[in-house]
Amino acid sequence: MNIVIFGPPGAGKGTQSNLIVKKFQLHQLSTGELLRNEIINKTKLGQEISSVINSGNLVSDKVVGDLIEKYISNDIFKNRLIFDGYPRNLTQAKNLDFLLNKYNQKIDLVLKLSVNLITIKKRISERKTLEKRQDDKDDIAIKRFETYEKNIKPVIDFYKKSNLLKVVNGEMSITEISDEISGLIERIKG
Ligand code: ADP
Repeated sequence: MNIVIFGPPGAGKGTQSNLIVKKFQLHQLSTGELLRNEIINKTKLGQEISSVINSGNLVSDKVVGDLIEKYISNDIFKNRLIFDGYPRNLTQAKNLDFLLNKYNQKIDLVLKLSVNLITIKKRISERKTLEKRQDDKDDIAIKRFETYEKNIKPVIDFYKKSNLLKVVNGEMSITEISDEISGLIERIKG
């Protein structure tokens, strides 16, 4: 099965993806992480995208689309992907359908983690002291939240129409959220 998980920055997508990956033997595909690795490894792409990421904006749809196709086209990951941070806008949502279809796959479940802005600010300011992500600076984190809000509405409508969307309350504890998500996955597996 392939799963999409999305939510605002600080919603806990990464944490939850990690837990699901272990429990259901899936592979986590975090576009944010892939992009940060390009920057850390000082690749040509990394140099091109670092200013975009560090300003809280989205990298081009073409760049991220090419990155995820490498995974979708790889048989090792076939029907075992959890998309963390993709899609982030309607173009990407449509592209994800297109790519999965191209490699005879589909999305089985879309999880939206809902968290309010106060909690997000709190979590990001806690994370800042742990991880030192450049884009976790207060003003940039807020910019990332605004970027998310601006682009995500049509994505939500898109997945509502296909009946794949499940909304999970991201304000609960890590274990409570993970239990709820596990239940949803079990139900699909049948
Ligand atoms: P968060 O969701 O907490 O902002 P991510 O690690 O998912 O963190 O993403 C970090 C940054 O990477 C984003 O602000 C954006 O610049 C870039 N990025 C990640 N995924 C995408 C995507 N699907 N499309 C465009 N840019 C992306």
